[in-house]
Amino acid sequence: MRTMIKYFFLCLTLLTFSACTPSEESSVEASILAPDNSPYLVVLGIAQDAGYPQAGCQKNCCRDLWAQKVQRKMVTCLGLVDPQSKETWLFEATPDFPDQLQLLNQELGQDAGVLPKGIFISHAHMGHYTGLMNLGREAMGAKNAAVWTMPRMTSYLTDNGPWSQLVALQNIQLQKLKADSTFQLNERLKLTPFLVPHRDEFSETVGFKIEGTKASALFIPDIDKWERWDLDIREELAKVDFAFIDGTFFENGEIPGRDMALIPHPFIEESRALFAELPLVEKNKIHFIHFNHTNPVLKMGKERALLKQEGFGQCEEGDYFAL
Ligand SMILES: [Zn+2]
Ligand SMILES: [Zn+2]
Ligand SMILES: [Zn+2]
Repeated sequence: MRTMIKYFFLCLTLLTFSACTPSEESSVEASILAPDNSPYLVVLGIAQDAGYPQAGCQKNCCRDLWAQKVQRKMVTCLGLVDPQSKETWLFEATPDFPDQLQLLNQELGQDAGVLPKGIFISHAHMGHYTGLMNLGREAMGAKNAAVWTMPRMTSYLTDNGPWSQLVALQNIQLQKLKADSTFQLNERLKLTPFLVPHRDEFSETVGFKIEGTKASALFIPDIDKWERWDLDIREELAKVDFAFIDGTFFENGEIPGRDMALIPHPFIEESRALFAELPLVEKNKIHFIHFNHTNPVLKMGKERALLKQEGFGQCEEGDYFAL
């Protein structure tokens, strides 16, 4: 009976998520969502690398946000929490790292300065690693924060300032990720990084598969186009319970004056078409994330309603997914 009541509240909470702000609600919801102390993912940011609003933007998308902070969105980031072992992990070190670290620690009622057990970096684009600067001498002065990176990313951080100073001063301790190699984070959680095609100027790019004891998730914040990947996203989707995937742009032509072929992402329109024939249960697994400031789904409107109507999810800050 107690469990049933908890799951009733879980459903209620899920229904009201979009209205919640993470900072006020998180610890309460976490305890409801994880009645058996199972690990969970918490969404700590949903915007593309440059955030929302984006520097210099006076268009409709961002104009109203300069005067207020309520509707701003942080850069794409997931927190992983194991309430049982009291451990946390962070996916991406974004420009919003200070707030995201604070929110992550709040999940366990911990001091804001506790470092996650590991920070996983997908690639060397500004929204995914520059938050590491907060671990350095000018900021936290962290000691041996475990930062997990692929080989090219490791070289990039080791060989280029200011990141090399984090390595030299041992603010961070680089740990090796290997593509397609699964490893245990603890006895309840497993992680597998895998390569995806992306504009790899400074590093390779990976997505992550995160497996708990009850559920598993894919996290692919950046990928050029689905058809350029040697795996079929629909087949990978079938193997997991949730997929947080690249929803940077809604459609072609979204950024007037920029050649969008130079910044390829699967447009949400293209993903909708690719997934159109999938059964609803598969569509329900998909949660778009990594929204550019121009993406209309950031505002209430027909695009957002359309996704919902078709059975797709879109991540909101403060969303929880039990693993
Ligand atoms: Zn990105
Ligand atoms: Zn804008
Ligand atoms: Zn990128």
